[in-house]
Amino acid sequence: EKLFSGFSKTRENLSVVDELLTYWNLADTDRVLDELEEALLVSDFGPKISFRIVDTLREEIRDGKLKSGAEIKAALKRCILELLTNKGGNSELNLGFRKPAVIMIVGVNGGGKTTSLGKLAHRFKNEGVKVLMAAGDTFRAAARDQLQVWAERTGSEIVIDNDKKAQPPAVKRGKREGFDVVLCDTSGRLHTNYGLMEELVSCKKVIAKALPGAPNVFGNYHVARVPQEILLVLDGTTGLNMLQQAREFNDVVGVTGFILTKLDGTARGGCVVSVVDELGIPVKFIGVGEGMEDLQPFDAEAFVEAIFP
Ligand code: GDP
Repeated sequence: EKLFSGFSKTRENLSVVDELLTYWNLADTDRVLDELEEALLVSDFGPKISFRIVDTLREEIRDGKLKSGAEIKAALKRCILELLTNKGGNSELNLGFRKPAVIMIVGVNGGGKTTSLGKLAHRFKNEGVKVLMAAGDTFRAAARDQLQVWAERTGSEIVIDNDKKAQPPAVKRGKREGFDVVLCDTSGRLHTNYGLMEELVSCKKVIAKALPGAPNVFGNYHVARVPQEILLVLDGTTGLNMLQQAREFNDVVGVTGFILTKLDGTARGGCVVSVVDELGIPVKFIGVGEGMEDLQPFDAEAFVEAIFP
């Protein structure tokens, strides 16, 4: 419901197309596709995807594969769904087989990193997963207090170290005390701040060092493990700007999934499709509010229904 109401603007953009499709006949094809192209562009699908979708539909109409407005609409939804699922791959969290699984949460300040970490802890708790938080934002002191509040709210354990990185001690404690998951907050940064981006790489390395080694294919060496998941939090209201952010973070630390926040606000749905298609990385969760329950696993079909019911 929240996702649906968040995408009211996107639906409005696409409603013109929906109406035209209701009365579609072959002679209308160019007009409908022009309208569709414009609606996709203003909904942040980006030129590449918008043109690709329109070209695909044009071809299928020309080849006689789509013979009615309803068939065109179904094909449009199928195209968007394929863009979200073919390249993006698996939206499920990968926690691996060894305990503790480490999840690093990264992103720029204000995107919803700390809030998403808190909501994620709440989800884990509800599923009976034993979770430990690491207050790893050494750049913004208030972030630690904010996370402490989330720890209390969700009844989670937390490791805070005011002077040093909290992630390595948290990982070690996680191992020692049998936690299932260690959720690591990291310093919020601007993707253009190279010093801070480098710190993120070093953070990934120290986590890997703290994790117990795993035998390699020969069974005799021990190679450091990396965090199971590196989730990049992207603010859904920033539109196509999130693409550049996603590229830079992925180049520096290797992102395994996205958390798209604020989709209950004024987000335009197309940017979700753009970022998945561009990077081939799945959206794992979406944020649809500020409350504890407002983090949902990403469901591509529900997403398509929310923008084009
Ligand atoms: P950080 O700097 O990346 O850690 O960002 P915060 O977690 O402090 O979030 C910044 C602001 O965005 C806070 O006011 C949050 O309550 C708000 N916020 C985070 N996620 C969502 C969301 O999914 N929807 C809405 N409406 N607000 C959110």
